[in-house]
Amino acid sequence: MTANLYALFASRFPADSTACCIETHDGQYYSWGDIERASARIANLLSSLDLPSGARIAAQVEKSPEALILYLATLRAGFVYLPLNTAYRAAEIEYFIGDAEPAVFVCTPQNFGWVAQIAFKAGTRHLFTLDEGGNGRRNSGSLLARAMHHPDAFDTVEKQADDLAVILYTSGTTGRSKGAMLSHGNIGSNAQVLQQYWHWHWQAGDVLLHALPLFHIHGLLVAANGALLNGSKMIFLPKFEAAEVCRQLPRSTVFMGVPTYYVRLLASGGFDRHTCRNIRLFVSGSAPLLADTFAEFAERTGHTILERYGMSETAMLTSNPYAQERRGGTVGLPLPGVSLRLMGTDSEGRGEVCKTGEIGDIQVKGPNVFHGYWRMPEKTVEEFTADGYFKTGDVGRFDNQGYLSIVGRSKDLIISGGYNVYPKEIESVLDEIDGVLESAVIGIPHVDFGEAVTAVIVKRPEAKLTTADVIALMKTSIANFKVPKQVFFAEELPRNTMGKVQKNVLRERYALPAAGSVTPS
Ligand code: AMP
Repeated sequence: MTANLYALFASRFPADSTACCIETHDGQYYSWGDIERASARIANLLSSLDLPSGARIAAQVEKSPEALILYLATLRAGFVYLPLNTAYRAAEIEYFIGDAEPAVFVCTPQNFGWVAQIAFKAGTRHLFTLDEGGNGRRNSGSLLARAMHHPDAFDTVEKQADDLAVILYTSGTTGRSKGAMLSHGNIGSNAQVLQQYWHWHWQAGDVLLHALPLFHIHGLLVAANGALLNGSKMIFLPKFEAAEVCRQLPRSTVFMGVPTYYVRLLASGGFDRHTCRNIRLFVSGSAPLLADTFAEFAERTGHTILERYGMSETAMLTSNPYAQERRGGTVGLPLPGVSLRLMGTDSEGRGEVCKTGEIGDIQVKGPNVFHGYWRMPEKTVEEFTADGYFKTGDVGRFDNQGYLSIVGRSKDLIISGGYNVYPKEIESVLDEIDGVLESAVIGIPHVDFGEAVTAVIVKRPEAKLTTADVIALMKTSIANFKVPKQVFFAEELPRNTMGKVQKNVLRERYALPAAGSVTPS
């Protein structure tokens, strides 16, 4: 039996092929039959290009139903889909094209000029355009124009579970961005686990409100795949916009977002129980959901957000339960089939599995874990343990009920005066202070301490806090070595499109002009 992911989806498409698969915010309607026929045309086009097996089809396009159809067509034709963040500019695209050597690149008509220069120089054989449609207009561009001339039926190519399906480039806040290679088996198994775990009832009327981008694991492999596997309709928004989400929520049953979406919903007028009356599941992930947001959301809407944790390399790893208690500040329990352990070191410096409550490096194994980094065999070997666990680079702690909390990235760990300081712990204490909206804690190189614990705080509008107040309050709640040596106030924290705080940007911004210029407390 084929393990082609598209074949798995197609086996769940509703019997009525005229039923709605995607509805756009401006009222366009794509039935399951439309999706099947449109993906067949593009799959036929791709197959006619005489590409080698394993060819990469790269796409840097705006979100649209056709962008999703391109993903499905690539799977059907047995090639490897490579989505790219629409924010990337020439230097970044040059790197991705050089590294992945895609045979086909699909870009927006606006970017065609500069992408063509880069792509043709690098030897990309085929360049197509796809625009975002909208305002009642379906997409145009050379991809669809060419595909129109191809038949609307296609025999999905047979694939093995280990065959490569998608390459997701990591956001690469440090060093080179790496291409995580995910197979049909990795993605299919994870989608099936989530279907069970989140109680998607096959074709039982679920409607997913899709506001996430399609170039990232969250929007593509968690949200869209969830609906596709379930034969469920999606309402597609080109991007997150609180007013539009509020307008569409009453027609939806499932919503997935990054924490920033939930913060913005809470800040928008008119968002209440009535808006959420038909929702059965709100999912948050990709960055930590603040305890305050979790609590305020529950109070305002009566819904408990389900927080989950995963990454491009592994798909989803843990989730708060559907039917049992969802604990704020935790990412829940390891998903079925995922083996997740926390590793610390014993007194001799040897690796040892942590006890409940101890903080350790998160390592994982399971059918969802990727096959390695694209063309980086040494890096891949480095990131796996001898017994086959992937080192996630995240640090966490289990509570006595087995719920995992993410303490931070191991590279964000601060070592100050020889002590380990976990930014998340300090941030949680800071966030409790009256007048603090949110905070980020970083380590800044320091001549005496190695690194100085540094806090960047966004105040509530009316707050009168001073740096001295913060330091004094912190001294009463945590050990002195953890108390920030310096505190900065900022208008907002720098975030990437997935809502992750960019600590590398903060580290640069607040680097000390001359090491040692802070006053030790
Ligand atoms: P990405 O590959 O872009 O999805 O980024 C994955 C990283 O996002 C993980 O390694 C975590 O550091 C972080 N992450 C994802 N979900 C959560 C979550 N629920 N809470 C905290 N961090 C998260």
